[in-house]
Amino acid sequence: PVVTRFAPSPTGYLHIGGARTALFNWLYARGRGGKFLLRIEDTDRERSTPEATAAILQGMAWLGLNHDGDVISQFERADRHAEVAHQLLAEGKAYKCFATQDEIAAFREQAKADGKSTLYQSPWRDAAQETYPDAPYVVRIKAPREGETIIRDEVQGDVTIKNTQLDDMILLRSDGTPVYMLAVVVDDYDMGVTHVIRGDDHLNNAARQMMIYSAMGWDLPIYAHIPLIHGSDGKKLSKRHGALGAQEYQVMGYPAAGMRNYLARLGWSHGDDEFFTDAQAQDWFNLDGIGKSPARFDTKKLENLCGQHIAISEDAALRQELTSYLEAAGETALSDTKSTKLEEAMFCLKDRAKTFPELLQKAEFVLADRPIQPDEKAAKALTNVSDGILNELTPHLQNVSWTRDDLEEALNAFATAHETKFGKLAAPLRAALAGRAVTPSVFDMMMVLGKDESLARISDAAD
Ligand code: GLU
Repeated sequence: PVVTRFAPSPTGYLHIGGARTALFNWLYARGRGGKFLLRIEDTDRERSTPEATAAILQGMAWLGLNHDGDVISQFERADRHAEVAHQLLAEGKAYKCFATQDEIAAFREQAKADGKSTLYQSPWRDAAQETYPDAPYVVRIKAPREGETIIRDEVQGDVTIKNTQLDDMILLRSDGTPVYMLAVVVDDYDMGVTHVIRGDDHLNNAARQMMIYSAMGWDLPIYAHIPLIHGSDGKKLSKRHGALGAQEYQVMGYPAAGMRNYLARLGWSHGDDEFFTDAQAQDWFNLDGIGKSPARFDTKKLENLCGQHIAISEDAALRQELTSYLEAAGETALSDTKSTKLEEAMFCLKDRAKTFPELLQKAEFVLADRPIQPDEKAAKALTNVSDGILNELTPHLQNVSWTRDDLEEALNAFATAHETKFGKLAAPLRAALAGRAVTPSVFDMMMVLGKDESLARISDAAD
Protein backbone atom coordinates (compact mmCIF):
# COMPACT_ATOMS: atom_id res chain seq x y z
CA PRO A 1 0.00 0.00 0.00
CA VAL A 2 1.20 3.47 -0.87
CA VAL A 3 2.01 5.82 2.01
CA THR A 4 3.08 9.38 1.30
CA ARG A 5 3.62 12.27 3.64
CA PHE A 6 3.97 16.01 3.77
CA ALA A 7 6.59 17.12 6.27
CA PRO A 8 6.61 20.89 6.62
CA SER A 9 8.77 22.79 9.07
CA PRO A 10 6.46 25.12 11.02
CA THR A 11 8.48 28.28 10.65
CA GLY A 12 6.00 30.36 8.64
CA TYR A 13 2.97 30.28 6.40
CA LEU A 14 2.26 27.49 3.92
CA HIS A 15 4.43 28.43 0.95
CA ILE A 16 2.98 27.90 -2.50
CA GLY A 17 5.81 25.42 -3.17
CA GLY A 18 4.96 23.53 0.01
CA ALA A 19 1.31 23.48 -0.99
CA ARG A 20 2.28 21.93 -4.31
CA THR A 21 4.45 19.31 -2.56
CA ALA A 22 1.54 18.48 -0.28
CA LEU A 23 -0.79 18.27 -3.28
CA PHE A 24 1.50 15.91 -5.20
CA ASN A 25 1.72 13.61 -2.19
CA TRP A 26 -2.02 13.81 -1.64
CA LEU A 27 -2.80 13.06 -5.29
CA TYR A 28 -0.36 10.17 -5.39
CA ALA A 29 -1.85 8.53 -2.31
CA ARG A 30 -5.50 9.28 -3.05
CA GLY A 31 -5.25 7.94 -6.57
CA ARG A 32 -3.91 4.65 -5.29
CA GLY A 33 -6.07 4.02 -2.26
CA GLY A 34 -3.06 4.82 -0.13
CA LYS A 35 -2.49 6.99 2.90
CA PHE A 36 -1.35 10.60 3.02
CA LEU A 37 0.26 11.50 6.34
CA LEU A 38 1.17 14.84 7.85
CA ARG A 39 4.27 15.30 9.97
CA ILE A 40 5.21 18.62 11.47
CA GLU A 41 8.99 18.91 11.57
CA ASP A 42 9.22 20.98 14.69
CA THR A 43 12.61 19.91 16.00
CA ASP A 44 14.04 23.39 15.56
CA ARG A 45 12.60 24.79 18.77
CA GLU A 46 13.85 28.30 18.10
CA ARG A 47 12.11 28.70 14.77
CA SER A 48 9.04 26.48 15.14
CA THR A 49 5.85 28.11 16.32
CA PRO A 50 2.32 26.86 17.01
CA GLU A 51 1.02 29.75 14.87
CA ALA A 52 2.95 28.43 11.89
CA THR A 53 1.57 24.94 12.45
CA ALA A 54 -1.93 26.40 12.60
CA ALA A 55 -1.34 28.36 9.39
CA ILE A 56 -0.11 25.23 7.59
CA LEU A 57 -3.11 23.21 8.75
CA GLN A 58 -5.44 25.99 7.70
CA GLY A 59 -3.85 26.29 4.30
CA MET A 60 -4.16 22.56 3.75
CA ALA A 61 -7.76 22.61 4.93
CA TRP A 62 -8.55 25.38 2.46
CA LEU A 63 -6.99 23.37 -0.35
CA GLY A 64 -8.92 20.29 0.75
CA LEU A 65 -5.74 18.28 1.28
CA ASN A 66 -7.06 16.03 4.02
CA HIS A 67 -4.50 13.82 5.70
CA ASP A 68 -4.92 10.42 7.31
CA GLY A 69 -4.39 9.80 10.99
CA ASP A 70 -3.14 12.25 13.58
CA VAL A 71 -0.78 15.10 12.88
CA ILE A 72 2.62 13.80 13.93
CA SER A 73 5.01 16.02 15.84
CA GLN A 74 8.60 15.16 15.07
CA PHE A 75 9.84 16.77 18.25
CA GLU A 76 7.68 14.51 20.38
CA ARG A 77 9.41 11.49 18.88
CA ALA A 78 12.90 12.54 19.97
CA ASP A 79 13.27 9.53 22.31
CA ARG A 80 12.60 7.16 19.47
CA HIS A 81 15.16 8.92 17.27
CA ALA A 82 17.75 8.67 20.02
CA GLU A 83 16.92 5.00 20.46
CA VAL A 84 17.86 4.32 16.85
CA ALA A 85 21.16 6.17 17.31
CA HIS A 86 21.90 4.02 20.35
CA GLN A 87 21.09 0.89 18.43
CA LEU A 88 23.60 1.89 15.73
CA LEU A 89 26.11 2.62 18.46
CA ALA A 90 25.58 -0.82 20.00
CA GLU A 91 26.00 -2.43 16.59
CA GLY A 92 29.24 -0.59 15.89
CA LYS A 93 27.68 1.31 13.00
CA ALA A 94 28.03 4.55 14.85
CA TYR A 95 30.58 5.75 17.38
CA LYS A 96 31.12 8.24 20.14
CA CYS A 97 33.22 11.17 19.06
CA PHE A 98 34.90 13.21 21.80
CA ALA A 99 36.56 15.71 19.49
CA THR A 100 36.29 19.30 20.68
CA GLN A 101 35.34 22.22 18.46
CA ASP A 102 38.94 23.35 18.53
CA GLU A 103 40.21 19.99 17.38
CA ILE A 104 37.74 19.94 14.52
CA ALA A 105 38.69 23.45 13.49
CA ALA A 106 42.37 22.52 13.60
CA PHE A 107 41.68 19.45 11.44
CA ARG A 108 39.94 21.60 8.85
CA GLU A 109 42.68 24.15 8.76
CA GLN A 110 45.32 21.50 8.26
CA ALA A 111 43.25 19.79 5.54
CA LYS A 112 42.86 23.10 3.79
CA ALA A 113 46.58 23.79 3.97
CA ASP A 114 47.24 20.31 2.57
CA GLY A 115 44.68 20.81 -0.20
CA LYS A 116 42.57 17.91 1.09
CA SER A 117 38.87 17.52 1.76
CA THR A 118 37.85 19.49 4.81
CA LEU A 119 35.16 16.96 5.73
CA TYR A 120 36.00 16.02 9.28
CA GLN A 121 37.53 12.60 9.87
CA SER A 122 37.32 11.77 13.52
CA PRO A 123 40.11 9.79 15.19
CA TRP A 124 37.42 8.28 17.43
CA ARG A 125 35.89 6.27 14.61
CA ASP A 126 37.97 3.22 15.42
CA ALA A 127 39.05 4.07 18.95
CA ALA A 128 38.87 1.39 21.61
CA GLN A 129 36.33 1.85 24.38
CA GLU A 130 39.09 1.79 27.02
CA THR A 131 40.48 5.02 25.62
CA TYR A 132 37.20 6.92 26.03
CA PRO A 133 37.61 9.99 28.22
CA ASP A 134 35.02 11.12 30.71
CA ALA A 135 33.92 14.00 28.51
CA PRO A 136 31.00 15.12 26.39
CA TYR A 137 30.64 13.38 23.04
CA VAL A 138 28.48 13.33 19.96
CA VAL A 139 27.35 10.16 18.21
CA ARG A 140 28.48 9.93 14.59
CA ILE A 141 27.49 7.43 11.94
CA LYS A 142 30.27 5.50 10.20
CA ALA A 143 29.91 6.75 6.68
CA PRO A 144 31.26 4.59 3.88
CA ARG A 145 34.74 5.81 2.95
CA GLU A 146 34.86 4.28 -0.51
CA GLY A 147 32.59 3.66 -3.43
CA GLU A 148 29.56 5.68 -4.34
CA THR A 149 25.96 6.17 -3.37
CA ILE A 150 23.35 6.17 -6.10
CA ILE A 151 20.08 7.91 -5.42
CA ARG A 152 17.55 6.28 -7.71
CA ASP A 153 15.19 9.14 -8.12
CA GLU A 154 11.93 8.89 -10.03
CA VAL A 155 12.27 12.44 -11.29
CA GLN A 156 15.99 13.14 -11.43
CA GLY A 157 17.05 9.70 -12.58
CA ASP A 158 20.12 8.08 -11.00
CA VAL A 159 22.14 10.63 -9.08
CA THR A 160 25.58 9.39 -8.12
CA ILE A 161 27.49 10.76 -5.19
CA LYS A 162 31.02 9.75 -4.32
CA ASN A 163 31.12 8.45 -0.80
CA THR A 164 34.22 10.54 -0.15
CA GLN A 165 31.77 13.43 -0.15
CA LEU A 166 29.91 11.99 2.80
CA ASP A 167 31.20 12.62 6.28
CA ASP A 168 30.53 10.79 9.52
CA MET A 169 27.51 12.91 10.18
CA ILE A 170 26.35 13.55 13.70
CA LEU A 171 23.27 11.59 14.82
CA LEU A 172 23.11 12.76 18.43
CA ARG A 173 24.40 16.07 19.68
CA SER A 174 26.43 16.28 22.87
CA ASP A 175 23.26 17.05 24.82
CA GLY A 176 21.81 13.78 23.53
CA THR A 177 19.28 15.37 21.19
CA PRO A 178 18.86 13.79 17.75
CA VAL A 179 19.65 15.73 14.59
CA TYR A 180 17.06 16.47 11.95
CA MET A 181 18.49 14.07 9.36
CA LEU A 182 18.07 11.13 11.74
CA ALA A 183 14.57 12.21 12.73
CA VAL A 184 13.38 12.30 9.10
CA VAL A 185 14.61 8.79 8.37
CA VAL A 186 13.29 7.23 11.57
CA ASP A 187 9.93 8.93 11.17
CA ASP A 188 9.55 7.96 7.53
CA TYR A 189 10.44 4.38 8.40
CA ASP A 190 8.14 4.16 11.42
CA MET A 191 5.30 5.78 9.52
CA GLY A 192 5.69 3.21 6.76
CA VAL A 193 6.29 5.88 4.13
CA THR A 194 6.74 4.22 0.74
CA HIS A 195 7.21 7.34 -1.40
CA VAL A 196 9.11 10.46 -0.45
CA ILE A 197 7.98 13.23 -2.79
CA ARG A 198 9.59 16.55 -1.88
CA GLY A 199 11.48 19.55 -3.21
CA ASP A 200 14.79 18.89 -4.93
CA ASP A 201 16.49 21.11 -2.39
CA HIS A 202 16.47 17.90 -0.34
CA LEU A 203 18.23 15.78 -2.95
CA ASN A 204 21.62 16.04 -1.24
CA ASN A 205 20.03 15.09 2.05
CA ALA A 206 18.81 11.88 0.45
CA ALA A 207 22.35 10.56 0.10
CA ARG A 208 23.02 11.21 3.76
CA GLN A 209 19.69 9.80 4.83
CA MET A 210 20.39 6.67 2.81
CA MET A 211 23.39 5.98 5.07
CA ILE A 212 21.02 5.62 7.99
CA TYR A 213 18.65 3.33 6.08
CA SER A 214 21.57 1.21 5.08
CA ALA A 215 23.07 1.06 8.58
CA MET A 216 19.70 0.03 10.01
CA GLY A 217 19.08 -2.47 7.23
CA TRP A 218 15.85 -0.73 6.33
CA ASP A 219 14.33 -0.69 2.83
CA LEU A 220 14.61 2.66 1.10
CA PRO A 221 11.48 4.59 0.17
CA ILE A 222 10.99 5.56 -3.46
CA TYR A 223 12.36 9.05 -3.94
CA ALA A 224 10.90 11.74 -6.16
CA HIS A 225 12.63 15.10 -5.81
CA ILE A 226 10.63 17.72 -7.62
CA PRO A 227 12.13 20.89 -9.10
CA LEU A 228 11.33 24.12 -7.32
CA ILE A 229 8.85 26.64 -8.66
CA HIS A 230 10.18 29.63 -10.55
CA GLY A 231 8.65 33.01 -11.27
CA SER A 232 7.48 34.12 -14.70
CA ASP A 233 11.00 35.36 -15.46
CA GLY A 234 12.53 31.94 -14.80
CA LYS A 235 14.17 32.99 -11.55
CA LYS A 236 13.53 31.28 -8.24
CA LEU A 237 10.08 32.27 -6.97
CA SER A 238 10.29 35.17 -4.57
CA LYS A 239 8.22 37.92 -3.08
CA ARG A 240 8.73 40.22 -6.04
CA HIS A 241 6.89 37.72 -8.27
CA GLY A 242 3.76 38.12 -6.18
CA ALA A 243 2.06 36.22 -3.39
CA LEU A 244 3.98 33.29 -1.92
CA GLY A 245 1.61 32.09 0.78
CA ALA A 246 -1.07 29.61 -0.24
CA GLN A 247 -3.59 31.45 1.88
CA GLU A 248 -2.91 34.74 0.16
CA TYR A 249 -4.57 33.11 -2.83
CA GLN A 250 -7.56 32.25 -0.70
CA VAL A 251 -7.79 35.86 0.41
CA MET A 252 -7.55 37.02 -3.21
CA GLY A 253 -10.58 34.87 -3.87
CA TYR A 254 -9.28 32.01 -5.98
CA PRO A 255 -11.40 28.88 -5.64
CA ALA A 256 -9.62 25.93 -4.06
CA ALA A 257 -10.48 23.56 -6.92
CA GLY A 258 -8.90 25.92 -9.43
CA MET A 259 -5.86 26.30 -7.24
CA ARG A 260 -5.49 22.53 -6.95
CA ASN A 261 -5.82 22.15 -10.71
CA TYR A 262 -3.23 24.85 -11.30
CA LEU A 263 -0.75 23.58 -8.72
CA ALA A 264 -1.07 20.06 -10.12
CA ARG A 265 -0.06 21.39 -13.52
CA LEU A 266 2.83 23.28 -12.02
CA GLY A 267 5.61 20.84 -12.77
CA TRP A 268 3.45 17.89 -13.73
CA SER A 269 1.65 17.21 -16.97
CA HIS A 270 -0.73 14.72 -18.48
CA GLY A 271 -0.68 15.05 -22.24
CA ASP A 272 -2.32 18.30 -23.25
CA ASP A 273 -4.77 18.32 -20.38
CA GLU A 274 -4.91 21.66 -18.62
CA PHE A 275 -8.33 21.68 -17.02
CA PHE A 276 -9.33 18.68 -14.95
CA THR A 277 -11.32 17.65 -11.92
CA ASP A 278 -9.94 16.23 -8.69
CA ALA A 279 -11.10 12.76 -9.70
CA GLN A 280 -9.20 13.02 -12.96
CA ALA A 281 -6.12 14.41 -11.25
CA GLN A 282 -6.11 11.55 -8.75
CA ASP A 283 -6.59 9.10 -11.56
CA TRP A 284 -3.86 10.53 -13.74
CA PHE A 285 -1.22 11.71 -11.33
CA ASN A 286 2.03 9.79 -11.54
CA LEU A 287 5.71 10.40 -10.99
CA ASP A 288 6.53 9.97 -14.69
CA GLY A 289 4.67 13.15 -15.53
CA ILE A 290 6.79 15.32 -13.25
CA GLY A 291 9.11 17.55 -15.24
CA LYS A 292 12.84 17.78 -14.64
CA SER A 293 13.08 21.52 -14.99
CA PRO A 294 11.47 24.14 -12.79
CA ALA A 295 7.92 25.15 -13.65
CA ARG A 296 7.09 28.83 -14.00
CA PHE A 297 4.29 30.37 -12.04
CA ASP A 298 1.75 31.87 -14.41
CA THR A 299 -1.05 33.91 -12.87
CA LYS A 300 -2.99 34.15 -16.14
CA LYS A 301 -3.18 30.39 -16.36
CA LEU A 302 -4.22 30.15 -12.74
CA GLU A 303 -7.04 32.61 -13.33
CA ASN A 304 -8.15 30.88 -16.46
CA LEU A 305 -8.43 27.53 -14.66
CA CYS A 306 -10.14 29.15 -11.69
CA GLY A 307 -12.77 30.62 -14.02
CA GLN A 308 -13.46 27.20 -15.48
CA HIS A 309 -13.78 25.65 -12.04
CA ILE A 310 -16.18 28.31 -10.85
CA ALA A 311 -18.26 27.72 -13.97
CA ILE A 312 -18.67 23.99 -13.29
CA SER A 313 -19.18 24.24 -9.53
CA GLU A 314 -22.49 23.44 -7.89
CA ASP A 315 -24.35 26.57 -6.84
CA ALA A 316 -24.62 25.51 -3.21
CA ALA A 317 -20.92 24.67 -3.04
CA LEU A 318 -20.04 28.04 -4.53
CA ARG A 319 -22.20 29.79 -1.98
CA GLN A 320 -20.39 27.97 0.78
CA GLU A 321 -16.96 28.69 -0.61
CA LEU A 322 -17.85 32.31 -1.10
CA THR A 323 -18.85 32.52 2.54
CA SER A 324 -15.45 31.12 3.58
CA TYR A 325 -13.76 33.51 1.20
CA LEU A 326 -15.47 36.52 2.78
CA GLU A 327 -14.41 35.32 6.20
CA ALA A 328 -10.81 34.67 5.14
CA ALA A 329 -10.63 38.06 3.47
CA GLY A 330 -12.02 39.78 6.56
CA GLU A 331 -15.07 41.05 4.66
CA THR A 332 -18.53 41.42 6.15
CA ALA A 333 -20.54 38.24 5.95
CA LEU A 334 -23.71 38.15 3.84
CA SER A 335 -27.04 37.88 5.58
CA ASP A 336 -28.91 34.61 5.11
CA THR A 337 -31.39 36.28 2.79
CA LYS A 338 -28.68 37.77 0.62
CA SER A 339 -26.73 34.56 0.61
CA THR A 340 -29.82 32.62 -0.49
CA LYS A 341 -30.52 35.16 -3.22
CA LEU A 342 -26.96 34.87 -4.33
CA GLU A 343 -27.26 31.12 -4.65
CA GLU A 344 -30.40 31.56 -6.75
CA ALA A 345 -28.50 33.95 -8.99
CA MET A 346 -25.43 31.76 -9.22
CA PHE A 347 -26.43 30.29 -12.58
CA CYS A 348 -25.95 33.64 -14.29
CA LEU A 349 -22.90 34.71 -12.29
CA LYS A 350 -20.56 31.78 -12.41
CA ASP A 351 -19.87 31.75 -16.12
CA ARG A 352 -17.63 34.72 -16.29
CA ALA A 353 -15.90 35.09 -12.95
CA LYS A 354 -12.34 33.96 -12.36
CA THR A 355 -12.31 34.88 -8.69
CA PHE A 356 -14.82 35.43 -5.92
CA PRO A 357 -14.40 39.21 -5.92
CA GLU A 358 -15.28 39.16 -9.62
CA LEU A 359 -18.28 37.00 -8.92
CA LEU A 360 -19.42 39.38 -6.19
CA GLN A 361 -19.07 42.29 -8.54
CA LYS A 362 -21.41 40.60 -10.98
CA ALA A 363 -23.71 39.83 -8.06
CA GLU A 364 -24.15 43.52 -7.19
CA PHE A 365 -27.72 43.44 -8.47
CA VAL A 366 -28.78 40.85 -5.88
CA LEU A 367 -26.67 42.23 -3.08
CA ALA A 368 -27.69 45.89 -3.39
CA ASP A 369 -30.91 47.22 -1.88
CA ARG A 370 -33.32 49.79 -3.30
CA PRO A 371 -32.89 52.53 -4.10
CA ILE A 372 -30.16 51.33 -6.44
CA GLN A 373 -27.28 53.78 -6.67
CA PRO A 374 -26.13 53.84 -10.27
CA ASP A 375 -22.42 54.12 -10.87
CA GLU A 376 -21.11 56.66 -13.36
CA LYS A 377 -21.61 54.56 -16.46
CA ALA A 378 -25.04 53.39 -15.39
CA ALA A 379 -26.07 56.97 -14.60
CA LYS A 380 -25.08 57.96 -18.11
CA ALA A 381 -27.15 55.14 -19.60
CA LEU A 382 -30.12 56.42 -17.65
CA THR A 383 -29.82 60.06 -18.71
CA ASN A 384 -29.65 58.92 -22.30
CA VAL A 385 -33.24 57.73 -22.09
CA SER A 386 -34.73 61.06 -21.31
CA ASP A 387 -37.75 60.27 -23.43
CA GLY A 388 -39.30 58.41 -20.54
CA ILE A 389 -39.07 55.01 -22.10
CA LEU A 390 -38.64 53.35 -18.71
CA ASN A 391 -41.76 55.11 -17.48
CA GLU A 392 -43.77 53.51 -20.19
CA LEU A 393 -42.21 50.13 -19.70
CA THR A 394 -43.49 49.59 -16.19
CA PRO A 395 -47.21 49.33 -17.03
CA HIS A 396 -46.30 47.28 -20.07
CA LEU A 397 -44.65 44.66 -17.90
CA GLN A 398 -47.32 44.75 -15.23
CA ASN A 399 -49.37 42.01 -16.79
CA VAL A 400 -46.60 39.82 -18.06
CA SER A 401 -46.41 36.43 -16.44
CA TRP A 402 -42.85 36.32 -15.14
CA THR A 403 -41.45 33.51 -17.24
CA ARG A 404 -38.36 33.99 -19.32
CA ASP A 405 -40.21 33.40 -22.60
CA ASP A 406 -42.99 35.83 -21.84
CA LEU A 407 -40.57 38.45 -20.61
CA GLU A 408 -38.50 38.16 -23.73
CA GLU A 409 -41.56 38.44 -25.90
CA ALA A 410 -42.88 41.43 -23.99
CA LEU A 411 -39.63 43.34 -24.10
CA ASN A 412 -39.10 42.66 -27.77
CA ALA A 413 -42.66 43.74 -28.54
CA PHE A 414 -42.12 46.89 -26.51
CA ALA A 415 -38.92 47.64 -28.36
CA THR A 416 -40.59 47.16 -31.73
CA ALA A 417 -43.48 49.40 -30.74
CA HIS A 418 -40.96 52.10 -29.86
CA GLU A 419 -39.08 51.57 -33.10
CA THR A 420 -35.95 50.67 -31.31
CA LYS A 421 -33.91 47.53 -30.84
CA PHE A 422 -33.93 45.57 -27.63
CA GLY A 423 -30.21 46.30 -27.42
CA LYS A 424 -31.00 50.01 -26.98
CA LEU A 425 -33.34 49.19 -24.16
CA ALA A 426 -30.90 46.91 -22.46
CA ALA A 427 -28.47 49.61 -21.26
CA PRO A 428 -30.98 51.67 -19.27
CA LEU A 429 -32.60 48.48 -17.99
CA ARG A 430 -29.26 47.20 -16.74
CA ALA A 431 -28.67 50.52 -15.09
CA ALA A 432 -32.09 50.47 -13.49
CA LEU A 433 -31.90 46.90 -12.25
CA ALA A 434 -28.26 46.77 -11.18
CA GLY A 435 -26.88 50.29 -11.16
CA ARG A 436 -24.00 48.89 -13.20
CA ALA A 437 -23.15 48.80 -16.88
CA VAL A 438 -21.65 45.30 -16.78
CA THR A 439 -24.09 42.75 -15.43
CA PRO A 440 -25.59 39.36 -16.20
CA SER A 441 -28.26 39.43 -18.88
CA VAL A 442 -31.30 41.61 -18.29
CA PHE A 443 -33.58 38.57 -18.42
CA ASP A 444 -31.51 36.65 -15.94
CA MET A 445 -31.58 39.58 -13.55
CA MET A 446 -35.32 40.04 -13.91
CA MET A 447 -35.90 36.35 -13.27
CA VAL A 448 -33.73 36.39 -10.19
CA LEU A 449 -35.17 39.63 -8.79
CA GLY A 450 -38.77 38.65 -9.47
CA LYS A 451 -41.56 40.81 -10.76
CA ASP A 452 -42.17 43.16 -7.85
CA GLU A 453 -38.57 44.02 -7.22
CA SER A 454 -37.77 44.38 -10.92
CA LEU A 455 -40.70 46.73 -11.54
CA ALA A 456 -39.92 48.73 -8.43
CA ARG A 457 -36.34 49.25 -9.55
CA ILE A 458 -37.43 50.22 -13.05
CA SER A 459 -39.87 52.79 -11.79
CA ASP A 460 -37.30 54.11 -9.26
CA ALA A 461 -34.98 54.77 -12.16
CA ALA A 462 -37.72 56.22 -14.34
CA ASP A 463 -38.56 59.01 -11.90
N1 GLU B 1 10.84 19.73 6.67
C1 GLU B 1 11.37 19.79 5.35
C2 GLU B 1 10.96 21.09 4.70
O1 GLU B 1 10.03 21.72 5.13
C3 GLU B 1 10.91 18.63 4.48
C4 GLU B 1 11.70 17.41 4.70
C5 GLU B 1 11.28 16.25 3.87
O2 GLU B 1 10.27 16.32 3.15
O3 GLU B 1 11.95 15.21 3.97
O4 GLU B 1 11.59 21.50 3.74
